[in-house]
Formats: sequence, C-alpha cells, structure tokens
Amino acid sequence: MELFRESKIELHCHLDGSLDVDTTLGILKNDPGLDLENLVGGVTGKALFWDYREKFPYKPEYSNLKELIADLSADELKTYLTVGEGCRDLMEYLTRFDLPLAVLQTEYALEQSAYGFAMAAARENIRYIEARFAPTSHRQLGLEFNQIIDAVLRGLKRAKADTGIITNVIVCAMRGLSAEENLEMFKAAREYLNLGVCAADLAGNEAAYPANEFLTLFSEVKKLGMPFTLHAGECGSLINVKDSIEMGAGRIGHGVAAGKSEEVMKLAKKSGVGFELCPSSNLQTKAVESLDNYPVETFFEQQIFYNINTDNKTVSGITLTGEMELIQGQFGFDEDFWTTNYLNGVHMAFASDDVKERLVRGV
Ligand SMILES: [Zn+2]
Repeated sequence: MELFRESKIELHCHLDGSLDVDTTLGILKNDPGLDLENLVGGVTGKALFWDYREKFPYKPEYSNLKELIADLSADELKTYLTVGEGCRDLMEYLTRFDLPLAVLQTEYALEQSAYGFAMAAARENIRYIEARFAPTSHRQLGLEFNQIIDAVLRGLKRAKADTGIITNVIVCAMRGLSAEENLEMFKAAREYLNLGVCAADLAGNEAAYPANEFLTLFSEVKKLGMPFTLHAGECGSLINVKDSIEMGAGRIGHGVAAGKSEEVMKLAKKSGVGFELCPSSNLQTKAVESLDNYPVETFFEQQIFYNINTDNKTVSGITLTGEMELIQGQFGFDEDFWTTNYLNGVHMAFASDDVKERLVRGV
C-alpha cells in the first residue's frame, strides 16, 4: 500500500515543533511586530547572529540581524529548526524550539504558522489534525490568552477553507510553571471548548515533574469539562503512565514505557485509554534505543488503542507519511494494522460525533 495516499489522522503534533519552514521564513522577513534584535530578550537573536557566522562562513558579514535575515534562505533556516542525524539527547532536541518560540510572539506569526502547519498536513492527506501548543509560551510581547488562541484558530480556519482539513486545538499546561498560571490559561481556553479547542494536555520536563504533582490541576480541568491527554512514559517512567491513566486521561502522549508492564497494559485496556505514539521523536530523545521493542505491535495485538504521530515534524525533520513508513519498514504490518491505526485515530480524537462520523465515512 502507498502510505502517502492513505487518509490520515494526527493527534499528537506540536505547533511550535512543526512549523512550515517557508512560512517561518516569511514571518521572519515580513512580520512588522517581530523585534528581531530582541527575540526572547535578545538571546535567540544574538545566538542566531553569531552562530550563523560560524555555520555559513562563506556568506557576507552582516552588520546586524535584520540584514542577515533579509538574506536568509529556507535551507539555512532549517538548520536552526531541525535536529541533525546525530541528536544526542532531549536537551539538544529542545534547543530547536528556541527560534520557533521566539518567533511565535505576535498574532501575525501565530496565525501564519497555524495556517502553514495545517496546509503542510493537508498536503500529505491528513484529514484531521489536533494542533497542540502552550498559550503561556506566547505572551512575551504582551499577548493575552484569547488573542493567542484566536490567532491560531484563524490560521487553522483559513487552511480548512483552502483544503477541507479538519482541525482542533489542544492547549498544553507546562510542567515547569505554577499551578495558578496553568489553571488561568485553562480557564481562558475553556471559553473555546468545542469552538476550536478540544482538550488539555501537560507537556514539559517529565523527569523533573512527575504526573502525580498535577493531580489538583487536572481535577480542576475535569471540573471545567475539558477532556485531556497527558505526556507520560516518555522518559521511561511507568509510574507516570499508570498515574496518568488513573487521573482520568483519555489519552497518553507517548507512553512507550507501558509496553514493559502487564499490569499497566491491563489497566490501559480496562480504561480504554489511547496511546499517541511518536517513533522518531522517541528515538531522537533516546526514550527508546531502537524500534526493536517498540510497543506498537503489542498494542495492536492486545487491541489497545494506539495511533502513529510525529510529535514535532520540523524539529525531527519528518512527516507523518515517513513515520508510517518507518513503522512499516520495521514491522511489515498488513493493511489491517493501518486501517486499525486510522480507526483508532477517529476513536481517540477529541472531536465531535459529527466529525468522527465524517472521518469514518472517508475510509
Ligand atoms: Zn509531545
């Protein structure tokens, strides 16, 4: 089967890690609100300026960042957005978010990026995608939560008008922030529930902030009536997967550690939780050493909900089609696996019944 042509559903994809390179170049060159010299307190702008001289010594010596960006090419920009082949660990992986987060600070940048994100998804036959991001990360130039969410929704809506792609937004709490700040964001996002926002998430450094520290926050999220997924089991912690399921998560981001424990697998089956698997991301951050023991086969055999995702398309330098081919190359699944992957995606989606019905009819 030709995986590129297959209809796809993607549930775990971060906007800031999946920026369309050409769109981002356009924002860097054209966004009047972007203060280039002072991107994130100047740190990112200065790093870009000095690092560029080292990386591209054959280019002219620019006297300032504005000149450099006027001459910047998409290929050069990509080296700041994508990890190379030899990504050492999660820390190196995370440096590729510096520039995206510096750029995504204006309504223009957020709208354009969301549009480019969804258009790229539509090009590989993704019919439904849930874009996730942390609104708290986009306030450095003073934007309010509603301005941030509105801007992203405008971009996604434009892509729908152009291609028919159906989208939803997952808002992420960040593990390193205070409970008050995360809750304030969720309360603002709650106003958009079923109006473009579909769910909540918890992202950030899992090793330093285990799931059980967020019990109170997510019991508040439950009270707000928001479904949620939680990043868990990405750094090998089985207990985080277990705690996340017990906290009432509808889905687990990654959860690769679950495959190691029969007890957790039983719990997963009983609860009906779905696993959002992101193979290349797990390889690059060293969450798994190889795909040999990747739990996807076990999930499929034991009829536990799973689907294949990218996590961060641009940071990882991948596409959803490529991730599916990677899994196909490793396990040699038959068509049944990919039909299940699609139907699991429909089942796991935080979408309305109407949308789910349309997605099933599209198989
Ligand atoms: Zn993720």
